[in-house]
Amino acid sequence: MSIKNNLSQVLHSLPNNVTLVAVSKTKPISDIEEAYETGQRVFGENKIQEMAQKWELLPKDIQWHMIGHVQRNKVKYMAEFVSLIHGVDSLKLLKEIDKQAKKHNRIIDCLLQIHIAEEQTKFGLNNEELDELISSPEFQQLKNIKVTGLMGMATFTDDNAQIQKEFKQLKKLFEKTKATIPEICILSMGMSGDYKLAIEEGSTMVRIGSSIFGARNYG
Ligand SMILES: *Cc1c(COP(=O)(O)O)cnc(C)c1O
Repeated sequence: MSIKNNLSQVLHSLPNNVTLVAVSKTKPISDIEEAYETGQRVFGENKIQEMAQKWELLPKDIQWHMIGHVQRNKVKYMAEFVSLIHGVDSLKLLKEIDKQAKKHNRIIDCLLQIHIAEEQTKFGLNNEELDELISSPEFQQLKNIKVTGLMGMATFTDDNAQIQKEFKQLKKLFEKTKATIPEICILSMGMSGDYKLAIEEGSTMVRIGSSIFGARNYG
């Protein structure tokens, strides 16, 4: 199967209101070009420097999404061009993004990452930490970031009931947060293995890598 065929199959399975982030991490420029030629414009990466290198080499109408864990000292490498940062999970990080965005005279859109999985290793805020963050005066003063939604990753399991439970929990929190922050409109949940379930539970943005580009090889 070619990238082009995979991409069109994935796109056909998505409702119109769901945005596809094509996750191109570890994949070469030529793979991204192939997806670009078929019309895909939104790509996701999980390493800031890799994303910045690809941004330099590829057409400038690509929207680059940072989907991985963000180290504060690297925000400066993407502040000029990043279109959406999915994995924001602290006020400290938001403040750094705000500071770097200001240098470029931009407002950077961010999603707050929520911890929904059972694994301890996955990053994200719990419900109380989310409440605390969005109600803090410091957060409300940040002018160069805009929180436009929530993001979450389900437990890595083939127990669909478990995954569904976690997505439902995130959707509920999303609706609740919308009531406080009117700009909230994006719910980023679902990857190759669970995006159909995520869409059933209300996802508006799916992050799909291996179903489009094939398995990754971390040599
Ligand atoms: C790698 C990654 C994806 C894509 O995973 P696939 O299973 O290849 O679709 C989605 N979200 C995040 C946060 C990732 O790091």
